[in-house]
Amino acid sequence: MGGADISVKAIRELLASRGFSFSKSLGQNFLVDADIPEKLARLSGVDQSCGVLEIGPGLGALTSALSRRAGQVLAVEIDKRLIPILRDLFTESVNVEIMQGDIMRQDIAKLVSDKMPDMRYHVCANLPYSITTPVLTVLISSGVFETITVMTQKEVARRICAQPGSSEYGAFTVFVNYHSSEAETLFDVNPECFLPRPEVFSSVITIRTRPERLLDAEDELFFFRVTRAAFGHRRKTLTNALRAAFGDILGKTDIEGSIRECGLDAHIRGEMLDLEEFVRLSTLIRRIYGK
Ligand code: SAM
Repeated sequence: MGGADISVKAIRELLASRGFSFSKSLGQNFLVDADIPEKLARLSGVDQSCGVLEIGPGLGALTSALSRRAGQVLAVEIDKRLIPILRDLFTESVNVEIMQGDIMRQDIAKLVSDKMPDMRYHVCANLPYSITTPVLTVLISSGVFETITVMTQKEVARRICAQPGSSEYGAFTVFVNYHSSEAETLFDVNPECFLPRPEVFSSVITIRTRPERLLDAEDELFFFRVTRAAFGHRRKTLTNALRAAFGDILGKTDIEGSIRECGLDAHIRGEMLDLEEFVRLSTLIRRIYGK
């Protein structure tokens, strides 16, 4: 199934004919390098069995590449001015649906299963930078996507793929690790590949979600409280950071005891713990805290 083809020339002509001006607040930096959407679509691994949710199709550069590979593409765009342009571009693409809406206001699991029933769900997008973290949080939490392949600011990509002990490693890294079996950077993208050019470099990352839960729902909430607390005071030791959050019930010895029971030094800092250590520690602390 062929999608519409969009080139730099076509973009410029479209913009001129419709008097379109870019919205900075909506993160409108459109891809004008045709290789990047192709590469993103190819490396995402989507095929005819897949229903792809695209967030922010813009002028359809990625939508077009996706429509050539995926079974179906649902492209949700907030900017009403772009909808008629997109509908014109994809009028002949039977596997593309353009929907006007704010992705942050959707019931995402229901949306994809209503619009693309009985498919394997994936996300591919060049995300608006201002909402990258909240969008990724709702996409990952929805629990319906096998993979999430997105372009983000390079700095955010580094945080997501960071290793314990590095300065980029934080509570969001642990959140992504908790829900995924793998998060990796696929390639970097220069500002010249966009119109208008952003001030920052970008990276394409892929997150392969984990089908099984690691903890029960209640323990999960507590787990995220522990990880947020651990990174809440980066200069403090883990013991002191946890005392600041749970000191109403837990004493220093309880916390130090739990950290040691995980095989860790009581003076360790939170950013040194990997996912498994956080899971073990939060389970032990919850046992004492919940008494
Ligand atoms: N996919 C296009 C490309 O790669 O050329 C455009 C990407 S541009 C970085 C981000 C797009 O997301 C814009 O078209 C913008 O209007 C749209 N957008 C911003 N906030 C949105 C939201 N909350 N829901 C849906 N789309 C949104």
